[in-house]
Amino acid sequence: MDTDLLIVGGGPAGCAAAVMAASVGMRSVLIESGDTVCGALRRIPVVSNVLGVTNGPDLATAIEADLARCDLCRVALDSRATTIDAFDDRVEVAVEPVTPVGSARGPGARLTAPYVVVATGVGPLGPEGAGWLGGVAGRALPPLWEADPAAVDGRTVLVLGADRPLGTVARAHPELRTRFVVAYPPEDAYKIEEIRRDSRVELVAVRRLEFGPSSAPVTAEVRTVEGERRVLTADLAFLNLGSAPAPPAGAVAADPSGYCPPRSQHPRVFTAGDLRSVRFQRIATAMGSGGEAALGAYYASRGLPTESGGLPTEIGGPPTKTDGPPTEVGGPPDPAGGG
Ligand SMILES: Cc1cc2nc3c(=O)[nH]c(=O)nc-3n(C[C@H](O)[C@H](O)[C@H](O)COP(=O)(O)OP(=O)(O)OC[C@H]3O[C@@H](n4cnc5c(N)ncnc54)[C@H](O)[C@@H]3O)c2cc1C
Repeated sequence: MDTDLLIVGGGPAGCAAAVMAASVGMRSVLIESGDTVCGALRRIPVVSNVLGVTNGPDLATAIEADLARCDLCRVALDSRATTIDAFDDRVEVAVEPVTPVGSARGPGARLTAPYVVVATGVGPLGPEGAGWLGGVAGRALPPLWEADPAAVDGRTVLVLGADRPLGTVARAHPELRTRFVVAYPPEDAYKIEEIRRDSRVELVAVRRLEFGPSSAPVTAEVRTVEGERRVLTADLAFLNLGSAPAPPAGAVAADPSGYCPPRSQHPRVFTAGDLRSVRFQRIATAMGSGGEAALGAYYASRGLPTESGGLPTEIGGPPTKTDGPPTEVGGPPDPAGGG
C-alpha cells in the first residue's frame, strides 16, 4: 500500500478528511487537480454561514497552512484522479498529471491504499442540460460568479437560473448599481429566498426562454409560469444554472440524480462534501462530512462498526413477533441525494 488513506479532491471536504485522518494517526495522500487546495473558496468574497471566518480566501489560506503543518498528509497538486477501483482488500486510484495545454504530459501513477475518500465537489451545469433554454447554441454565456463587478455596474444583466452565486454576488457587492433580471425555471423556486428582497433583483419565473438573434443588447422571449409572453432585454447575459457532480470513473456509485451518497458506496469508498447530495452544498457541511469520512475509514480499518445497528439484546430484549407486514423504517431513498 502507498498510504493508509487516499483522498481525491482538495476542497474543504478533502482537506478536513486529511487533518482528521492525521489526528488519528493515519497517513494520507491528497490528490488535487488544481494548482492549489480550496480553489472554490478563493472565489467566495463574503461568507456568513461558517463559524470564525468572513470570506473564502482567508479560509482557504488558513486551511492551506493547516495542511502544510500536517506531517502525515502528502498533498499532490496538479494531479487528476481518473479512475477509482475498489477491491475486497484495497482501493486503487489512477492519477494523471495536469499539464498546461500544449505541453507534454508526464507519466501517470496508480496509487493503492486500504480506503479512499472521494470529495471532488461539483462543476457548473452548461446550458445544453437546461431544457427550458432555447437559442443558446454558439452564444457566449459565462458563469455569473466569473462576472467582473466593474463590467456589470450600472447595467442590466440577464441571469439564467436562480442558483446561489447570485446571492454571493449581491452580498459581496452592495455598491453595484446593476439591475439583475433573473429568469428561472419552477425547479429553482426554492432558491430565490436569498435574493428576493434585494431591490436590484427582478425575478421572472419562466417555463421557456428563447434568445433572439441579437447579442447586444441581449433579447429573449419568455413564457412565464402564468402563461404570459414577455420580451426581456439586457446588456449582458450570464449562466447561473447550478452544478452537477463529476466523480472519477469506476467504483464511486451515483444515484439517479448523479450524486454519490455515502450509504451507497463500496465499504472501502467514502464520499464527502458537495458530491454527496444536491441539498447539503455548504462549506461547513463539506468539512464535517470530510472529517466523518476519514473517521469512517479509521474505524473500518479497526473492524469497528460506525452504525448503531439497533439496540443490544440486553437492553432491548429478544425480538418480539409482530402480526402484519414489516414496517419500512426511513422510507425510500431520496432521489435527489439527501446526504
Ligand atoms: C459562487 C459560490 C459561492 C458560494 N458561497 C458559499 C457560502 O457563502 N457559504 C457556503 O457555505 N458555501 C458556499 N458555496 C459552496 C461551497 O463552496 C461548497 O459547498 C464547498 O466548496 C464544497 O466543498 P467540497 O470540498 O465538497 O468541494 P470543492 O470545494 O468543489 O472541492 C473539490 C475539489 O476537488 C478537485 N477535483 C475535482 N475532480 C478531481 C479529480 N478527478 N481529481 C483530483 N481533484 C479533483 C477540484 O479541483 C476541487 O478543488 C459557494 C459556492 C459557489 C460556487
